[in-house]
Amino acid sequence: MKQTLIDRLSTYAKVDTQSNEDIETTPSTSGQLELANMLVKELKQIGMDEVTIDENGYVMATLPATTDKDVPVIGFMAHVDTATDFTGKNVNPQVIENFDGNDITLNEKLDVVLSAAEFPELPGYKGHTLMTTDGTTLLGADNKAGIAEIMTAMEYLIQHPEIKHGKIRVAFTPDEEIGRGPHKFDVEAFGATYAYTMDGGPLGELEYENFNGAQAKVTFNGNNVHPGTAKNKMVNSMKIAMEFHAKLPEDEAPEYTEGREGFFHLLSIQGDVELTKLQYILRDHDRDKFEAKKALFEEITAEIKAEYGEKSIQLEMHDQYYNMREKIEPVMEIVDIASDAMKRLDIEPVIKPIRGATDGSQISYKGLPTPNVFTGGENYHGKFEYISVDNMEKATKVIIEIAKLYEEQAK
Ligand SMILES: [Zn+2]
Repeated sequence: MKQTLIDRLSTYAKVDTQSNEDIETTPSTSGQLELANMLVKELKQIGMDEVTIDENGYVMATLPATTDKDVPVIGFMAHVDTATDFTGKNVNPQVIENFDGNDITLNEKLDVVLSAAEFPELPGYKGHTLMTTDGTTLLGADNKAGIAEIMTAMEYLIQHPEIKHGKIRVAFTPDEEIGRGPHKFDVEAFGATYAYTMDGGPLGELEYENFNGAQAKVTFNGNNVHPGTAKNKMVNSMKIAMEFHAKLPEDEAPEYTEGREGFFHLLSIQGDVELTKLQYILRDHDRDKFEAKKALFEEITAEIKAEYGEKSIQLEMHDQYYNMREKIEPVMEIVDIASDAMKRLDIEPVIKPIRGATDGSQISYKGLPTPNVFTGGENYHGKFEYISVDNMEKATKVIIEIAKLYEEQAK
């Protein structure tokens, strides 16, 4: 199974599927469609039924039930695109068998070294088979490892028809990294009762709680006058913007928060005397605290208006996603099943809130509860990305075990 996983991840990694938020089409880039079409062929080739790709590049397929029991339809999902932060072009995956636990030179010429000093979890993979980059690109294990694991699990179940399971649906989706994956995902066509994204990190990760997220753009209008004759006339929009930011709680920023602590994150400043724009994201796991953060933005905006006039500030704010916990908690058995599947394989489930979101957050709100399961990767979105093939194999087995557990627990 390990060699199959290596081959699949290498093949998928070589297709450049970086998404692009500046492009409005779905998928945002043609490489994603190229990989999606490859996956359609492969799904047919391993023997999946009802293999489809829609006009937006969403791939779906069915593995029919091998039982007469009334088992809920379970979905497994992964995304085809890679992060916008780092190039995914000409990915050249390196395989290290029986890793010795020492620092790994990814690129001799450019002196790129994956070191335990920077990444303390590295020596823990001693003895594993690792896949790394060549130091010039990301690897794309986020989320192509998830695709490889789902594909390999389906192939295994097809080759072992004696294993009893209900109907299984799989989906490979575009544009997760730019937050648009769920937008055109046809939950009805997918037809699953519950689903799992195979899009987590290290061994054991199991996630059903994420941030509530909002985005805010704040525009400040000043009045530029020659500085020599500016007395009582000039209004400096940059200074009003600084005043706005100073009214936010200083310690509620990404660099000072962890766990379930939310934050205001100033993403960018663009400005001159006449016009200044601030861009923020607001995050909190707790819905009330999230609403309070947005209310604070409204309050400060009102204060600035009172002081500098109605036109001095414009606030544009919108919600991006919500904490899926609200949608998962009523069906906690789906988390328990994933957790039991791991324990059967001697994997200790690591359940913690995501300080971000997954496709599952929005999909859960579209009516399909979708927690997130580990793939085995580390250091996503950059040149130090790597993955343990041993843990990919475990993730593949978790998929198989989840399918078995739903059947065992059905009547
Ligand atoms: Zn991902």
